Amino acid sequence: MAQGYDFSGSAREWQRAGRVIPGGVNSPVRAYGGVDEKPVLIASGQGCRITDIDGNEYIDYVGSWGPLILGHAHPKVVAAIQTAAQRGTTFGAPTLAETDLAERIVKAMPSIQKVRMVSSGTEAVMTAIRLARAHTGRDYVIKMNGCYHGHSDGLLVAAGSGLAEHSTPSSAGVPRSISERTIVAEYNDIPGVERAFEEYHGRVAGLIVEPIAANMGVVLPDPGYLKSLRQLCDYHGTVLIFDEVITGFRVAYGGAQAVYGICPDLTCLGKIIGGGLPAAAVGGKAAILDLLSPLGPVYQAGTLSGNPLAMAAAITTLDVLGETDSYQQLETAGSQLQAGIEKAARKTGITVRILRAGSMMSCYFTDRPVRNLTDVKSTEIAMFKRFFSGLLRNGVYIAPSAYEALFVSLAHSPEDIHKTIEIICKVFQSIRR
Ligand SMILES: *Cc1c(COP(=O)(O)O)cnc(C)c1O
Repeated sequence: MAQGYDFSGSAREWQRAGRVIPGGVNSPVRAYGGVDEKPVLIASGQGCRITDIDGNEYIDYVGSWGPLILGHAHPKVVAAIQTAAQRGTTFGAPTLAETDLAERIVKAMPSIQKVRMVSSGTEAVMTAIRLARAHTGRDYVIKMNGCYHGHSDGLLVAAGSGLAEHSTPSSAGVPRSISERTIVAEYNDIPGVERAFEEYHGRVAGLIVEPIAANMGVVLPDPGYLKSLRQLCDYHGTVLIFDEVITGFRVAYGGAQAVYGICPDLTCLGKIIGGGLPAAAVGGKAAILDLLSPLGPVYQAGTLSGNPLAMAAAITTLDVLGETDSYQQLETAGSQLQAGIEKAARKTGITVRILRAGSMMSCYFTDRPVRNLTDVKSTEIAMFKRFFSGLLRNGVYIAPSAYEALFVSLAHSPEDIHKTIEIICKVFQSIRR
């Protein structure tokens, strides 16, 4: 393997794509803007391995950015999709599978009494925010800097000059009149949230947070952080929204809320609950969910919402996750990888800090604690870029950005992890200064 990697087909095809698709990609992070490589185009995947169009093979730790907890082309998921496809791919009418999936979600997460299916995490969050506003009759939303909640207008907002009241759009095309309604606090900063609640007293409809942050790299909540958010929301009559699009069915079957024992009012799900197809959901207290049309005044709809293929893939994925000691296996694989990387780092004199929640983790090149976006930004990004290039050219595929998580799946065997650690050790040797 190794030095023989040739990416000429990908280079050529990415150029061709760029003539008809902006940046040659349909989601920006795929364009490798955060590293010193060109995107590779993927031809196929099987288990924990993917193959690019030049025939290079990789052990995959992206897993389509989270959904593929069973690995690529799991035989049961493929069979379920095939069976569903033969019966027709979409009807725009209710089907049994939607209720079957909803029942599984309600059973998995005690905070969820009712759930509405949508097609992307972005939609799930949009709907959750609209519900929080309708339920409270208020306009403002608190979010945390570095947490990602999809690409809807109101959530593409960054902290301004460090003051909560000065949030600004983080994308062109977002009107200030919309971004103004979002207040940004730092992750793991309770006094900052308290200040926001004081400043906007009686006007905060919802507080949205990734209970374990995974979109600035993995950042764990400080002990008591989520509990304090719960208490503040209770005190101020604000809807607490957990965005578990990544963590739901990932860190535990019941999500991060099961791990930390905190009950949010609304939960956003996505990624794993699509089983590799486009499906997502917003769930929570029946009193809030029943505000949705057709029962209530909150409009929300979707032509392909709850479509049979996604429902089949999702149900099968959840059933496979539920039937064995899956989460123990994922924890074992995750801790094996973490321990192996840490050992390789010690051996080669590289400074790393790994933050991990079960099968998702980030490898930061720093010797300092990482508790928020500022900490992540102060890690050695240049080192990450060399790490990424070394891995890519030696058959290990991780997210092409220092601000993303790495995912282990049930398809990663102890041998796969072992092989990965060997490669990482070799790469560490080559990138140390
Ligand atoms: C991926 C993600 C989203 C957006 O989901 P899409 O399906 O990409 O729209 C929202 N929130 C979190 C926490 C996510 O990880």
